[in-house]
Amino acid sequence: MPEETQAKSTAADSPSPSAPSPGSGPRGPRPAGGPGGRGKFFRRKKVCKFCTEKIDAIPYRDVRLLQQFVAERGKIVPRRLTGVCTTHQRRLTRAIKQARNIALLPFATRH
Ligand SMILES: [Zn+2]
Repeated sequence: MPEETQAKSTAADSPSPSAPSPGSGPRGPRPAGGPGGRGKFFRRKKVCKFCTEKIDAIPYRDVRLLQQFVAERGKIVPRRLTGVCTTHQRRLTRAIKQARNIALLPFATRH
């Protein structure tokens, strides 16, 4: 077996200076497996109930439904707390007032 010439690595021996060295960035790598390994953070959705259920006209006779938006004293819960959109909050208010008129729901208790 004749030996080939091995000394022809003169041209292909140039070192590449632009190669990024790994692991030498200004920000150190995060240690994996830290103690803060909690799962997902449960975030409560605030979506209008009537929009999600596609209830257009709020049935004022549905006391159970209306009572979800009426506080214990008979006050209407502000939509900040319920997440009801403006449109449905107005309809809800009307429905609650109608329900009050036919004595399905109590009026606000007196002070
Ligand atoms: Zn809505």
